[in-house]
Amino acid sequence: MRVGIGHDTHRLVEGRPLLLGGVRVEHARGLAGHSDADIVLHALTDALLGAAGLGDIGDAYPDTDPAYKDADSRYFLQETRARLNRAGYRVVNVDVIVFAQEPKLGPVKACIRSSLAELLGLELDAVNVKAKTGERVGHIGRAEAMACQAIALIERID
Ligand code: MG
Repeated sequence: MRVGIGHDTHRLVEGRPLLLGGVRVEHARGLAGHSDADIVLHALTDALLGAAGLGDIGDAYPDTDPAYKDADSRYFLQETRARLNRAGYRVVNVDVIVFAQEPKLGPVKACIRSSLAELLGLELDAVNVKAKTGERVGHIGRAEAMACQAIALIERID
């Protein structure tokens, strides 16, 4: 068994949709980025790459590559999962924490969980989603940005 961690931060701006774990969340602002800026999918992709010793999302899907402009980040996670399978691993479970002052994520946590379970081909109980505010301090608390931390356990298929 092997474990990996991931982290991602993106700025909140006007005029962008807010995507978290592949779920469109109603909010006045969204996350800025080269791709769709889905912090949950980016942090999880990094956790999986890390667990398998495969580097990071910037190596795998460079944000200088025009192919990934406004990319649907579900592709990054699913392609990484396939890469792990080819390398002889399967995902055991994942856990993520989303840091956002607003909107309240309580009502959408279950949707994000289902979305991640589907993308990873896991049972619901192998996926956990938590949400924290920034306690109104720092870049998260002032709602200038959102962040996500993820951890993933993988095991050798044999
Ligand atoms: Mg990112």
